Amino acid sequence: MINKSLKELAAMLASKDISSVELTQEYLNRIDRHNPEINAYISLDQEKTLAQAAAADQMLAQGTASALTGIPIAQKDIFCAKGWQTTCGSKMLENFIAPYDAGIIERFNAVGSVNLGKTNMDEFAMGSSNETSYYGKVQNPWDRRRVPGGSSGGSAAAVAARLCAAATGTDTGGSIRQPASLCGLSGLKPTYGLASRYGMIAFASSLDQAGPMAKSCEDMALMMNVMTGFDERDSTSLNREKEDYTRDLGKPLAGLRVGLPKEYFAEGLEAGVAKVVEAAIDEYRKLGAEIVDISLPNTMLSIPVYYVLAPAEASSNLSRYDGVRFGHRAAEYDDLMDMYCKSRAEGFGAEVKRRILIGTYVLSAGYYDAYYLKAQQIRRLIAQDFERAFEQCDIILGPTAPSTAFKAGEKADDPVAMYLQDIYTIAVNLAGLPGMSIPAGFAPADDGKELPVGLQVIGNYFDEARMLNAGHAYQQVTDWHTRMPEGIA
Ligand code: GLN
Repeated sequence: MINKSLKELAAMLASKDISSVELTQEYLNRIDRHNPEINAYISLDQEKTLAQAAAADQMLAQGTASALTGIPIAQKDIFCAKGWQTTCGSKMLENFIAPYDAGIIERFNAVGSVNLGKTNMDEFAMGSSNETSYYGKVQNPWDRRRVPGGSSGGSAAAVAARLCAAATGTDTGGSIRQPASLCGLSGLKPTYGLASRYGMIAFASSLDQAGPMAKSCEDMALMMNVMTGFDERDSTSLNREKEDYTRDLGKPLAGLRVGLPKEYFAEGLEAGVAKVVEAAIDEYRKLGAEIVDISLPNTMLSIPVYYVLAPAEASSNLSRYDGVRFGHRAAEYDDLMDMYCKSRAEGFGAEVKRRILIGTYVLSAGYYDAYYLKAQQIRRLIAQDFERAFEQCDIILGPTAPSTAFKAGEKADDPVAMYLQDIYTIAVNLAGLPGMSIPAGFAPADDGKELPVGLQVIGNYFDEARMLNAGHAYQQVTDWHTRMPEGIA
């Protein structure tokens, strides 16, 4: 049951082999059993969840069901869900019960999917290991001493440990793809503007995008059909015709031009990871793809550019948490200014404070031109690198992350080492392109443990259907995506 695809689950629901209530209960039992250790979920509400499942069973009985009706989904705790505690991984929002649904949550509700619970994440989505969460770290189901990646670490661990049928994540600089890579699952960050940001707690608004995390590309295509679409409440939402992301699944790959950026195979990439990625590229060759060498010359600038722009936007977005309108308020203070200071000092963790400080600095008079403006200019150059590359190829392949899952605590005190986790993912956000990670094999860690490795697929704007087909074709001839960690029975 737990390894079934969304399509198989939907067929079982349609034929009444199982009801949504039964399926949901099975996942809730698994969560009871494994979540106390894995810590993938921050909040659970069995009553609400089962009520949704019962409503889905009604839809199934009435013949108003669609592909994801009755399917239990884990929602990253960055999405406001009416009546649910919505923390964004922060103490600041510990007592925040969302009074409305995010656009993404609305869409899942409309088709009758079941919200299993809200998943753990790095505080305000800032991190690559899920260690900055106020609600404790998340274990990687493949090796419990290791991190699941971040910031969507709870969603990734929930999919990997089969504590949900699929999950949502958000990706500002790699937070869907990097944890997907470290936990052996499929994750897709869509083209900027395809998925609504309404009610999705803002980190860096020009980069944030929601996307699916699931066992396979076929599952992600079904999730994308629900998650994308115009939302007039999000000023950056794109008003385009609805697409069916399953439409290309099964098309042959013959003639597909696959670009390999030389910068993604240079120094810094672990040898074991490189080996797995190269084997995956060979598989694409066998599937009929034509391999072309390309260059993305400004790759090395993407981390410094991102760590100017993302904190700048974050410092502005997070100014709303002042202890007055909502959010944590200090119990004791002298005057208004003291209340602001104490509330923010108590409510935010160290990484969030670091970003607010950097962001405020790069936006301040005298430094704005030197840092913020310069970074914006380089952002343009990075996007142009991709424009040129896509004249030579249809998709780009490479590693998702430079290493496999590292041990908890290993990089926690070294922000720069942590930031380097996103070296291959961040440029995609800066350019607004779609990017995806799919399981491609395993590489041995220092202690000999075999850990999952992700293959990154980058596409041109709005080319998600082609990317999903490219991933699906690979998943037809390999079985990495069906592998499960031990100890999650
Ligand atoms: N690791 C990156 C950061 O800490 C990206 C996070 C994300 O994509 N939300 O900013």
